Amino acid sequence: MSTDEYTTVRLPKELMEEVDKILKRGVMGYKSRAEFIKEAMREKLKTLPREVLEQLPLEHFNICDEGVRVLDRSLANEHSRGRIIDVYFRPENAWCEYCELTDCRHVKFALSLPEVRKIIREKGWEIRKKIKET
Ligand SMILES: [Zn+2]
Repeated sequence: MSTDEYTTVRLPKELMEEVDKILKRGVMGYKSRAEFIKEAMREKLKTLPREVLEQLPLEHFNICDEGVRVLDRSLANEHSRGRIIDVYFRPENAWCEYCELTDCRHVKFALSLPEVRKIIREKGWEIRKKIKET
């Protein structure tokens, strides 16, 4: 990871001293403050209710004629900060490879993007009728 993929945060000294005590004693093999804190955060994220995670905004990139790649941060795990999901355009609908559905929140998100609406309108596909004019 490059340095711009890191950020800093100020934490209470008292709390950090607790962490340092753990490191000093070699509890569970933690080697650094960062290692301990990262794991603590991941554990916390796992305990958040599904409804909360699903409110995290989806992000998109790589829009093309065939579909959109959507980043879903509610599907983060210990290996990544989210899962990349492909939503494919078809003349009659859009299809999400992750949910295997044509009406999940990834599809709804994809169809809400102005660039996607433009592509679909230009193609004159049936699916354009599902897109609410705004
Ligand atoms: Zn989906």
